[in-house]
Amino acid sequence: MAAERLLELKQAELSDANRKLSAHARSLSDEIVEKREETEALKTQTVQVMEKLETANHAMLIAERRLWDSVETIQDGFAVFDPDGVMIAANSAYLLPFDGLEAVGPGISYAEMLALCVEEGIVDIGNTAPKDWIAGMMTRWQGDLAVPRVLRLWNGVSIKLIDQRARDGDTVSLALNITDTIRNEAKLKKARHRAEAANRAKSAFLANMSHEIRTPMNGVVGMAELLADTDLDEEQRLYIETIKSSGEALLVLINDVLDYSKIEADKLTLHPAVFDLERAIHEIVLLLQPTAQQKNLDLLVDYDMFLPTHYVADPGRVRQALTNLIGNAIKFTAEGHVVIRVVGLPVDDETAQRVHISVEDTGIGIPPEMVDHIFGEFNQVEDERNRKFEGTGLGLAITRKIITLMGGEIWVDSEVGVGSSFGFFLTLPVGEADEPPLAVMPDWADRVIVADAQAINRQIIDKQLSMQKLAVLQCRSGEEVLAANPVGTDVLLIDTNLPDITGIELAQTVRDGGFGGPIILLTTAPGQPDKIMELGIRCLQKPVRRRELFSAIATLPALQNAAIEFRGSDPVAAENLAPASVARRMRILAAEDNRTNRLVFAKMLKALEIDLTFATNGREAVEAFAAEQPDLIFMDISMPEVDGKEATRQIRKIEAEQGLKHTAIVALTAHAMTGDDATILAAGLDHYLTKPLKKDAILARIAAEAPESCVPVFPQDFRLAAAQG
Ligand code: ADP
Repeated sequence: MAAERLLELKQAELSDANRKLSAHARSLSDEIVEKREETEALKTQTVQVMEKLETANHAMLIAERRLWDSVETIQDGFAVFDPDGVMIAANSAYLLPFDGLEAVGPGISYAEMLALCVEEGIVDIGNTAPKDWIAGMMTRWQGDLAVPRVLRLWNGVSIKLIDQRARDGDTVSLALNITDTIRNEAKLKKARHRAEAANRAKSAFLANMSHEIRTPMNGVVGMAELLADTDLDEEQRLYIETIKSSGEALLVLINDVLDYSKIEADKLTLHPAVFDLERAIHEIVLLLQPTAQQKNLDLLVDYDMFLPTHYVADPGRVRQALTNLIGNAIKFTAEGHVVIRVVGLPVDDETAQRVHISVEDTGIGIPPEMVDHIFGEFNQVEDERNRKFEGTGLGLAITRKIITLMGGEIWVDSEVGVGSSFGFFLTLPVGEADEPPLAVMPDWADRVIVADAQAINRQIIDKQLSMQKLAVLQCRSGEEVLAANPVGTDVLLIDTNLPDITGIELAQTVRDGGFGGPIILLTTAPGQPDKIMELGIRCLQKPVRRRELFSAIATLPALQNAAIEFRGSDPVAAENLAPASVARRMRILAAEDNRTNRLVFAKMLKALEIDLTFATNGREAVEAFAAEQPDLIFMDISMPEVDGKEATRQIRKIEAEQGLKHTAIVALTAHAMTGDDATILAAGLDHYLTKPLKKDAILARIAAEAPESCVPVFPQDFRLAAAQG
């Protein structure tokens, strides 16, 4: 029984276990089915991913192939290196110079590649030692790649290496074939050298030619001027005037073209030197005075009293710019005046000045639309009023270039029919003046009468004298002077050309009326020397520099006393007044190698009471100086053996050694050499005159330098006006 129960128990346990088993088997099979489904889904997904991957891969391959195709089509080399300098990829152009060397390709290091370049002679390293060359290249490779490196290959090809570091440390290297560029550059350089040489040759040719043309032209103009002085009938005079003016016009043209071509070829260099701006302006005015006088124009200078006079700049070029502007102002003005005004503002603690110079005229004016035009090359105002004037249209273009070159600026304000004002500014360092300070006004001088028809002229002198605490009475005419009764006035300053009376006549009238004080005659050309002497008149060249005016007044008393006593016919005083009667003649030495010029010069001075000696070269000039100690020397600059500059240096040396007084030396130069002004003045010359020799300019110089102790150089019947023909 027990066994049966045991069996039943076991059977029950068995069937229970069976049930559990089959339940487990069922759940397992369910799970399997589920997993199978999942696997199926995954499989589908994988296939899809694979397909996409394949597409992407394909696209990538295409992109890569395109990229490389593109990179391959570039004629320049292209390579990429990893951060260790190992080549990752390179196009065929990059590998081309290695001519199929198997070792050179992806995998090679930069250092190995350089070594091969040297070993195989691929790169022309010149005289550099191979290891140095490699070291240099490696230093660059590992350091700063900013500067491209140019290599020359064995076959003459030039390669420019432009390398750049990428973000991840790779290096992208471009090797550009610049052989053609270099070749073209070399060609261009050669062409430029050739062009520059041609330009230099042209400039030299122009300079030589203009000099060569100038020499005979000087003869033509000079002789014409002399011929004009002789007795001629109307027709002959017309011919000779035409020869003269054509010759002069031709010379201006040659000079302009020459200057412009110099500036064009950038051959215009500035030679800064200390110079006296006020004096330079007066000298230009002196030279242009005759032309202004012919037209009855007043040429005035208003130089700011407080402005320094000495500056550092190229004096020749400043003169040239001013001569152009003042020359134009005179040319385009039929009546009225031309005023040159100079003012300035200190800059940099007064070590420099911003100098403003304006040239104002009362001429024909310039239409507004032409204002820019006239500064261009060969540009002129083309209208009826304008074109009766000669000119090249280069003057203003040259002037503007010069002023711009000096860091300045030029402009013009103009009104048609009223006048023009050309202005420019230059910032110039103030130079050390070697001149003594301005003369102090003497105590006896208090009241001054200034008689001049021109208001501006009166005002300028008034301003200058008022600054010196003198009371100035302005008079417009002789009548006004007489009405003011000059007796009791300390100084009488009179212009030669008053509307109602000449200066000398007025002087005579006031002397007759009992005025015994000093009379200063402001004149553009000295004349009637005996009369001047008789009346005890002091002459000053117009426009007067304030330095000369002040010193004239400061040195007046002797003359004043002499004049008073002379009126009393005191023979002693008369002698004081006219010491010339017992004096020697002024001695003038002229050094000039050209025979025609000597002839012209001698003829021009024929009528003067002077002793004239000639030297035909610098050596003779120095000898003549030592022997004669002339009062004035005219010195040609280009002469054989010893030139004018050297001769002057030697003369200055003799003066210094022997303690002689300074002898005025005037350079006679061709205009072409204005650039040499600085060197001319540096050689010790005091002034210069340009050729062709102009009689009035030479006479004015002589008048300015004539010693008071000498016989008057201008004889009684001498008329400057006549000399001008
Ligand atoms: P040029 O005087 O030789 O003709 P510029 O270059 O000096 O040449 O001057 C160019 C032009 O500008 C002149 O021809 C003239 O028409 C005009 N011009 C220059 N200065 C003046 C002036 N002060 N008044 C009127 N017109 C002027």
